[in-house]
Amino acid sequence: MFKNLIFDWSGTLVDDLGPTLEATNAVLQLHGKDTMNKEEFRRRFRLPYSEFYEEVLPGILLGELENHFRHAFANSTVPVTVLPHAREKLDWCQNNNVRCFVLTSMDQKTFEAQLDDLFMRQFFEATYSGVLDKRHVIGELIDTHNLLIDETAFVGDMIHDVVTAKHGGVSSVAVLTGYTHHDVLLTVSPDWIVDDLSVFQAMMHDAKQMRSYE
Ligand SMILES: [Mg+2]
Repeated sequence: MFKNLIFDWSGTLVDDLGPTLEATNAVLQLHGKDTMNKEEFRRRFRLPYSEFYEEVLPGILLGELENHFRHAFANSTVPVTVLPHAREKLDWCQNNNVRCFVLTSMDQKTFEAQLDDLFMRQFFEATYSGVLDKRHVIGELIDTHNLLIDETAFVGDMIHDVVTAKHGGVSSVAVLTGYTHHDVLLTVSPDWIVDDLSVFQAMMHDAKQMRSYE
């Protein structure tokens, strides 16, 4: 099965929906807009986030919004946590020589801090953060690390992740632990949709067992 996995970060390996919603609402309030509840946010938020902000706060400079968002995110008291099964999945990959990478839109400073705070850095061969449009980077990631397309999957929780996988020619695995609902993810036809990373781990483990019997 897969020898290389590229992971999205938010909603795939870590749960940061709480502080992200809080920070988004702080930005909306600052500009006199109504706040969103969690369900509305999950319905409307999308990547690249520049498109989301153009929809909810048209005409405001992205850099200004990013600054306010990052300030509010950093000051949020809601913790960011590792999602259930994520650490076990990454452990399994490490023990089975599956190379792991991260490709995330999260700004580099916040991402690097989380990588250390959550003791996740040792799992990854390389990480790419602060990527507004992941389609622009996945090809470079694949080339730089000599990944074979057929042996590589991109794992993420949003439409943009599935679209990015297809753009890069790799398999797409959508997880339901993050920001996007099942029916919404179905519209872009990922190769797999899994409830969480334990299901994906079982898939890879079973495939490996099958190979060893061949
Ligand atoms: Mg995500």
